[in-house]
Amino acid sequence: MYKRYSIIFLLLYVFAGIAEASETSTSLAEPLKLIPNTGSFEGGQLAFIDVKEPVSERGKASIVCQFSLETPIIGYFDSRSHQYICRVPTHLRPEPVPVKITVNGKVFNMRQPYVYTTHGKYDSPVTQVHVERLQQRSKWVREQIPKSVKLCAVLKNGNPVGWLGKVMEETGKVDYFCVPRMQDGIALRKAGVEVPIMVMYLTHADYVPLLLHYNLEPSAYSLSWVERANQLLQATDTDSQLKVHLWIDTGISREGVMPNKALPLARAIDKSKYLHLQGIATHFCCLDDKDMVEIKKNNRKNKTALQKHRFDRILNKIHGEGIGRNAIIHASSSDGLRYGLTPVYYDMLRVGSLLFENPLPKQRNYHWTTKITQIKTLPKGWCVNYGCDEQIDEDTKVGIVSHIPDDEVNYYIRGKKVEKLLDHEVIVVLDLSTLPEVKEGEEVTMVFSGDDSPLDTSYSAPVTLHSTTRKTTEY
Ligand SMILES: *Cc1c(COP(=O)(O)O)cnc(C)c1O
Repeated sequence: MYKRYSIIFLLLYVFAGIAEASETSTSLAEPLKLIPNTGSFEGGQLAFIDVKEPVSERGKASIVCQFSLETPIIGYFDSRSHQYICRVPTHLRPEPVPVKITVNGKVFNMRQPYVYTTHGKYDSPVTQVHVERLQQRSKWVREQIPKSVKLCAVLKNGNPVGWLGKVMEETGKVDYFCVPRMQDGIALRKAGVEVPIMVMYLTHADYVPLLLHYNLEPSAYSLSWVERANQLLQATDTDSQLKVHLWIDTGISREGVMPNKALPLARAIDKSKYLHLQGIATHFCCLDDKDMVEIKKNNRKNKTALQKHRFDRILNKIHGEGIGRNAIIHASSSDGLRYGLTPVYYDMLRVGSLLFENPLPKQRNYHWTTKITQIKTLPKGWCVNYGCDEQIDEDTKVGIVSHIPDDEVNYYIRGKKVEKLLDHEVIVVLDLSTLPEVKEGEEVTMVFSGDDSPLDTSYSAPVTLHSTTRKTTEY
């Protein structure tokens, strides 16, 4: 009898203890979440902190926020919104970082990271770049290329260009980067990329000092370009020559010198004390899978064989004068590799799209999700869209998602594809008639149609780097 009572007493005592502990913890201020928890890595945006605290204590807590390893930021109470606020500091890269919030001297490690992204439009769903998949793909592409041929990774649209380049360089499989603009080259250098970088399209000769400073290799495309470059470089130490690529238009009507002007340009570069002829390049208009046979036959009715013929003839002339014998010859893009057109590989392949394609539909190099913000049922006969050209045939459950800056997207919920009823980009209405149990707040996965990836399309949504194996501080 005595024993049993004591157990009951003991239990009562324990329960009382728990009740007391939770009583004191409700009286302690505690940060619950950051709103929004994503924003530009340039920083400066306000993060509102939802703090649980007794009404009598409202606004009296001292708040310090620490994002990753950055300097702690002192927060303040905003009487208008009745929330605590920390101004987000700038961060080196767009990536998720851990957040610590200190309230009245007590440190809380927040469960959700703060997700730094490219640009500041945090209300569009953030695309996560899958760092390891991108790296695996770089390795795979390298394996398709003969060892004696260099790989130049072409980074045309992907964002953030500098950090994409950096994670690709880390594989040790990329020999060169080819970028369209000088600013992309500067972004790569700022991200710490050390391998050579060539700027493919026309960079005005006035930018020569910047190109030299960041060690970027532009294309030289005219005699006046060389003249202006010489003028600007006269003042520099001749040990630091600017490396240039002689770019020849062999039949695409785009960047580069016409074939009959290529030899004088090569001579001018060769003669310059300030320039080094690092490469000789062209670009093919029309690579396809039938080219191999035609190149072998030297059939000049075939566009690739014709361009190759023109390119080889100029190369012979230039080399014949003892110029550019060590220059890197490069001409082909992904399609040359895709179709195994070895005669156009020369010394280096410039590969863009093949690096960014998803190897399999289920192995995407990005992850893009949003949440259903609203659910409702439209009654039969309800108008769809302006003008009411269409009306609903039967009662239809719909879910709304917003701020999707691309209409070439398929939507999946619970692994099942759902159709769009209406797409105004800032507001997209999904037909949920096949998934009646879906609730507000449920996750929606967005997948680009075909093999497209946000890394290889012009794309304006915020992007962040997501790695499954490394900590954010290891970049
Ligand atoms: C785009 C481009 C490439 C890469 O083309 P992909 O088809 O993406 O591999 C290579 N060279 C030049 C000049 C380009 O403009």
